[in-house]
Amino acid sequence: MSDSNLMGKITSLAKRRGFVFQSSEIYGGAGSVWDFGPLGNELKRNVKEQWWNSMVHRRDDVEGLDSSILMNPKVWEASGHLDGFTDPLVECSNCHRRFRTDTPGVDEDQCPTCGKTEVFGDPRMFNLMFKTFMGPVEDEASTVFLRPETAQGAYVNFINVHNSARQKVPFGIAQIGKAFRNEITPGNFIFRTREFEQMEMQFFVEPGTDDEWFEYWLSARLEWSHSLGIAEKKLRVHEHGKDELAHYAKKAVDIEYEFPFGWQEFEGVHSRTDFDLKRHQEHSGKRLEYIDPAGNKRFLPYVVETAVGVERTVLIALLDAYTEENVDGVERVFLSLDPRIAPTKVAVFPLMKKEGLPELADGLYEDLRNAAIPSFCDMSGSIGRRYRRQDEAGTPWCVTVDKQTLEDGTVTIRDRDSLNQERIAMEMVCKWVSDHLLKV
Ligand code: ATP
Repeated sequence: MSDSNLMGKITSLAKRRGFVFQSSEIYGGAGSVWDFGPLGNELKRNVKEQWWNSMVHRRDDVEGLDSSILMNPKVWEASGHLDGFTDPLVECSNCHRRFRTDTPGVDEDQCPTCGKTEVFGDPRMFNLMFKTFMGPVEDEASTVFLRPETAQGAYVNFINVHNSARQKVPFGIAQIGKAFRNEITPGNFIFRTREFEQMEMQFFVEPGTDDEWFEYWLSARLEWSHSLGIAEKKLRVHEHGKDELAHYAKKAVDIEYEFPFGWQEFEGVHSRTDFDLKRHQEHSGKRLEYIDPAGNKRFLPYVVETAVGVERTVLIALLDAYTEENVDGVERVFLSLDPRIAPTKVAVFPLMKKEGLPELADGLYEDLRNAAIPSFCDMSGSIGRRYRRQDEAGTPWCVTVDKQTLEDGTVTIRDRDSLNQERIAMEMVCKWVSDHLLKV
């Protein structure tokens, strides 16, 4: 299968099965914003939960935060976003489409849309922040911005979290939330969008220990990607050269994934020094220094940041899981999603719509729901079709209730990837599934 085919197949499966829909589709869509349907929403929630578990719940040195999207506009002056959060933009003099200068084709002075050459002049810098107004007056004084990253919420709350959670440096602040960027050339489905969610963690350390912590977090984040089951050969790291470094960064490494459209950033790990706290201290006039409990050290902590997009992780999970195979002459498509992030864990089928099998299946479905195991009961269509639907949804286990269930109370559990089937007691299904979810 060619790579461009793979993006097409994922996009169409995502729509067909209810993972991702175009936003406001009945009106022709909205520029690069997407809605997550019943399965996509579950997948997204599971990705976020895995991140939160590993970054917050399983640690004692990271605290969670949910800061607001709208902030005092001075935050963006201090952070450098008002002046520096820009991309170079060029406009085609023929068709007037606008592009980021690193769009393929633009570097050779050929318009990717109309194909004309020698159409681009000098680039101008375009600020990616969305503007809006706060309150009933629409003037410059009331202009506010939709946050383009969640990180600033953590910096301005550094002292609040440090004091209330009684954390000592080194410690981190983690946050999952929406971010907005008026990207010049969004695209590649949910890879680059204008509204998206970030999972970011700011780790505050004593200056001089930042290099060590940087290496620690880079390897922890790589491990997390591996733990989601993403193929190792599809991941690599890319360290930013001096010319690529953002205005705040001392060092930055991208964890990249090999997408069908090339190697691209999946997650960034950044060493930000005391740039952010220092700027907020200067601009707010409030002291943001850390004083150690013994009172003999006072310093502005350095920050190591990890930043990854939820939608980008979802796209990687879908691409990585998409599998086509031929079983005894029959084509099968399945998503080999890690069971922890799979939207539905178990599907229950009665083999036939008679002899009390639907009622038995319904009872098992209710037990699974009561155990808070996301599940689905499918009574309609041939058993083959029911399997196919669940394979495309990435459901790891399908349980079939059949005639033998009436005799000995056992059911079959079919494994999505290996197609192995085993018989277990129906009353053990919830425990079997919970045990297997813990094992992976
Ligand atoms: P890029 O170079 O791809 O524009 P960036 O370097 O600006 O990304 P960061 O500011 O480091 O990205 O953001 C952290 C993470 O947020 C990225 O690694 C990516 O996973 C995600 N992300 C950033 N911009 C977008 C976007 N427009 N759409 C979806 N996810 C995004």
